[in-house]
Amino acid sequence: MTIAPLTIAVLPGDGIGMEITRPCVTLLQRVMEKIGRPALIENWLEAGAGAYTKTGQALPKETLEGCRAADAILLAAMGDPSVRYPDGTEIIPQIDLRFELELYAGIRPVRSVRGIKGPLADPRGDELDFVLVRESTEGLFASVGKGSRDEDQATDTQVVTRKGTTRVVDYAFRLAQQRKAQGRMGEVTSVDKANVFKSMAFWRDIFDEIAANYQDITPRYGYVDAVAMEMVRRPWIYDVMVTENMYGDILSDLAAGLIGGLGMAPSADIGDQHAVFQPCHGSAPDIAGSGKANPTAMFLSGAMMLDWLAVEKSDPLLAKGANMIVAAVDDAFADGTLVSTERGGEAGVDAITEAVGNALDALDADGNHPV
Ligand code: ATP
Repeated sequence: MTIAPLTIAVLPGDGIGMEITRPCVTLLQRVMEKIGRPALIENWLEAGAGAYTKTGQALPKETLEGCRAADAILLAAMGDPSVRYPDGTEIIPQIDLRFELELYAGIRPVRSVRGIKGPLADPRGDELDFVLVRESTEGLFASVGKGSRDEDQATDTQVVTRKGTTRVVDYAFRLAQQRKAQGRMGEVTSVDKANVFKSMAFWRDIFDEIAANYQDITPRYGYVDAVAMEMVRRPWIYDVMVTENMYGDILSDLAAGLIGGLGMAPSADIGDQHAVFQPCHGSAPDIAGSGKANPTAMFLSGAMMLDWLAVEKSDPLLAKGANMIVAAVDDAFADGTLVSTERGGEAGVDAITEAVGNALDALDADGNHPV
């Protein structure tokens, strides 16, 4: 039986996105070879601040069509503070893509990589494994491009709908069930501000309605400000947390800080039909072009893409490929000598790409370490 090749929409975007995309796609192609799958069909597409400057469109129609037609979408980073819409806001088509393709579940895994010391003194801070699920189609971001402003006042409105909340909370509970089957705690924490905002009290009521359908999973609650503190004090208490779009935006950067910086933090934005895989970080204009970027978050986002495709295509080989990337990243950093520039070391795109590539080569065809 011949296996159909997968088509990946590849959006390098702006800044360091242009530098970390090729290494990631090359790594994915090497994984395909290793697991005996046909090469990925790469559909490279333009979007972002560069595309806006060139064509006047941040998310051109062909790009959106290419994304819809692909099996999965791999996006690096978009935006450039020096390129703005006439109203002064930045070019962020990755947010438009989430709205267009209804990518409602923003998955931000917070997993420590062996060999990378986190900032916490407690050793449990180096063995983190929790997932932040960020609602990605509404909340405060519903106001993007819509808020109002006059001489004396500006407003942005937070929108929380039953549909939007139900689907993301339900996703979080299903994720907690999968993780429980792998030995995790089986808990979902609603991160909200239900004591202050009507929209958040509504969110929490829906959370409770969904929780009632999952008797095997324990619902927990935290106000976003208190959770921010707990994420620094004892983040190991969390399993799955689910939260509003803006809170998730902020907490996922905090979470990235716990595992070695934005360059280590992958993410996925998942809907019922499509999914985008993209590192948590932005285009990092301050280091763009210098070769200093850490491509690991991009590699791990590629692994998340293979994991998602494994389920979508009912192809366990792809899950094996995902595990290979994770293992190669763990092995590359394990002895503590590979230190990225964001952590004060020397290693940038080339050194990290080479180390992860070598670690991948060292794995056997099953993704194991040969004895
Ligand atoms: P956005 O709002 O688009 O997410 P941002 O304003 O949060 O972007 P980033 O572009 O993510 O900003 O950069 C924040 C800081 O982290 C910058 O100093 C940047 O250099 C650093 N940084 C981000 N990604 C990486 C990376 N992959 N490797 C090294 N440093 C990075």
